[in-house]
Order: sequence, then C-alpha cells, then structure tokens
Amino acid sequence: MQLATATKMFCGCELSFGEPPNTRTCPVCLGLPGSLPVANARAVHFGLMIGMALGSELAPRSIFHRKNYFYPDLPKGYQISQYDEPLCLGGRLGEVRIHRVHLEEDAAKLTHVGASGRIHGSDASIVDFNRGGTPLAEIVTEPDVRSPEQASEWLKLLRTTLRQLGVSDVNMQEGSLRCDANISLRPVGSSELGVKTELKNMNSFRFIERGIRAEIARQEKILQGGGQIIQETLHFDPGSGAITSLRSKEEAHDYRYFPEPDLLPVAIGRQMIDAARADMSELPAARAERFERELGLSAESSQLLAFRAELSDYFEGALGDVAKSTLPPQTLANWVAGELVPRLGDAGGDGSEEGAGNDPSSSRVEPGALASLVEMLVAKRISVGAARRVLDTLVAHGGDPQEIVDAEGLAAMDGGDELAGIVAGALAANADAAQRVREGNPKAIGPIVGQVMRETKGRADGTEVARLVNEQLGV
Ligand SMILES: [Zn+2]
Repeated sequence: MQLATATKMFCGCELSFGEPPNTRTCPVCLGLPGSLPVANARAVHFGLMIGMALGSELAPRSIFHRKNYFYPDLPKGYQISQYDEPLCLGGRLGEVRIHRVHLEEDAAKLTHVGASGRIHGSDASIVDFNRGGTPLAEIVTEPDVRSPEQASEWLKLLRTTLRQLGVSDVNMQEGSLRCDANISLRPVGSSELGVKTELKNMNSFRFIERGIRAEIARQEKILQGGGQIIQETLHFDPGSGAITSLRSKEEAHDYRYFPEPDLLPVAIGRQMIDAARADMSELPAARAERFERELGLSAESSQLLAFRAELSDYFEGALGDVAKSTLPPQTLANWVAGELVPRLGDAGGDGSEEGAGNDPSSSRVEPGALASLVEMLVAKRISVGAARRVLDTLVAHGGDPQEIVDAEGLAAMDGGDELAGIVAGALAANADAAQRVREGNPKAIGPIVGQVMRETKGRADGTEVARLVNEQLGV
C-alpha cells in the first residue's frame, strides 16, 4: 500500500501524481553515489497507526535492510526494505491474523514499448523514476484465508480500514493498493499447507477473486494428474484469464539481505506512540461492534453500514442524537441500506474497484429528509408503499417528505369510516374470498386487501386493513 505522505520514503522529493517523467527525482532516489537516505518520519507515524489498527505489537526498535536484486527500475541495485526486525509484528483484522507490517520504498515505473512505440527502431523499455522511492507499507497475513470470496471480502475490510485511518488513498486502479496472493492447496483432512505460488500485483477485487480461482483450478489439475507444484511467482492476465510464470520464486537468501548501513535503527518512543494514537479514528470493525451493542442493529446491518464509511456516516447523520432520537435504529438502517442505496444505482457500489458508487451523501436525499420519512412511517402516518413512492421522488428531485406526502396525497388513511367503507366494498366484491376467510383460511384475505390497496393507492396500512377485514367478517 502506498502511504499518503507528502514526500518519498528516504528523500525530500514530493510524491508524483502524473507529473512529466523523471521530474520528481534527486540524487537519493536516483541512487547516485555518495547520496544518503533519511527515513520519512511521517511514514513511520502512518506505520504505527496501521499497527495500532491491526492490533500489532509495535517494535520498540526496527531496522531497515537492503534487499539486493538487479532490475532497471531499481537504480541502486537494492531496495531498502525491512526484513527480520519490522515495525509491526502480529495482529488481527476480522478473522485473519496479521503476520507483520513493514515499511519499504517502491521501485520506479517501467513501461515496455512494443512495436507501436519503437525507440531507435527496436522494442524498448522506458523508465520513469518519479515513482522510485515512494513509501510503501507491506501488510503480510497468516495463511488464514480459505476461499477467493473470503480474500476479496477481507481486502475490502482492510481497504475501508486503511481509508478511514487516512494513511493512504487506497486507490486500487492507480496502484496505491495492490495485492500479492499466495495460494496453496492441501488434501482434505491434512493440516499441512502445500507448496505455494504467488500471484503478483493484482489491483481489483474482481481480478483478485478471479485470479485466485484460476490458480486454484490450475494447481488442482496438476495435483490430480500426479504432478507437483513449483514455487514460483505468477501473473494473472484479467483479459485472457491466463496465468503465466514471471520467475521461479526467490528464497530470502537469494536477496542477500543485510542491514542498511546508511540508516539508523527506528526507535519508537512514547511520544511517537501517543501521536499515532491521537490520530486514530474509530475503525470499521469497532464501529460495527458499537452499532450492534449500543443501537441494537443486527450483525448484518452493522457490518453493511460500518464497512462503508460513507454509509455509516450518513446513517448516523440521519439518526442524530441517539439519546433524543425517536427513530428505531434498525428501521432507519434498513431504509438506508435496503431502500435508499439500491435506488442510487450501482456505480461500482459493491465489490468493484472503487466501491464508492451509490454514496447517499452525494444524492439529493438529505439525511434529515430520510429521517423524517422513516419517522412518518413509524408513526403510521404513511404506509410502506407510500414511503417508497416518497423516496423515489426524493431520489429524483430532493425535497421535504412531508411536502411530497401532501402534494401527492399520500397520507395514510387512518382506521376511520372512510377506510372501513372501502373494506366493506372490497368484501362485497370478493364474496368467495370473504367466505373462505370466514371458514378459517386466513390466506384467502389476499385479494380483499389487494383491492383495498388499489382503491386507496397504497395509502392504507396493510395491518390495519387486515384488522378491519377480520373485524367486519367477525373472525
Ligand atoms: Zn528523491
């Protein structure tokens, strides 16, 4: 994950957002001889916040290592990363244990120029060092994920958590959050994990699910044919669905890790911990727990709302002061998640790359308007059908629910004479059904209630209509 610092991990260059290539560089991030790195304090601060959010142990002392390998996007010939003394150890998010969190620098960006963009008459790769040295936090989990669906669900929770922390813009399409998935199979009943492969750099929830599914199928086929899985790093092509090998997986010793002699160890003091704690906001898992405990929401509703900050902010805005509110929180939650959000269309709302579509706060429906709509519904001043029609109008044009109810004549009919008269008419028109209800078949009431609803244009309350029908039939 790319950290949202102002400058790079070990130099003062500003992070690049689409500037012309190689304009955000300096001797440090270009790896020129004699230059010296300095660790970015803000990146360490963000690292501590991530560790706190994941319940990790914050290492009082951590050090940077050199991870040696040659590649044209790595001018020093090594990446500064953390190895056996990372910033954060252990932890848990949801049902998945965290192994470690460490800080490192990103490599530069290589672009392979094919036949269309040949340089000096030949295929080429061009390199942009703007990205080189961008601060990254790598979060490594324990092997606790059991299915492609669980992987993408968990990543969504992680992404929401990181976004709420404000440590990253977590934009997957732009590569601020990318995922390497390690995959291994084991025979049923065995507790030993098989040889694993790694799918590199996936940057969409959908591709992650598809990639993992494809790799499981590939391994299954090999194992069932009596073959062996080779430990390697793989690439999943979302376009063709193909999995190709990038390289055989290196072992740690291939990288010749050794402590970075140009950087001091990071010693975490009391002040740094206090500063990180002061910047923490309530995180999705804690918010869901609070919704369940304090508002009595179902576990499902709690997670549905809390795992999308924009939904829970909207919900809490509509609910207002809990101590004074007369709204039943569960009913309001149902109307936010079950009625309003689906009406806003699915512009990437669930599971696709951004997950920021159908955000009610950018709709025409003010939180206060939804609250008064639900209030009218709960007070039985409008029927459910009428409330849905009001919501349609609110979504399309905004406005005040009471005015819409008045303008469209949607106020509920109370159980007075008018409704009783309509019920009597419906009984007369459905004599057969009325007889069956009288004979003890409650399901036969359907056509009678249906006619009342049609005649009242949905303004009558279904429960009240059923009560009146039974009363008039003497059931
Ligand atoms: Zn630089």
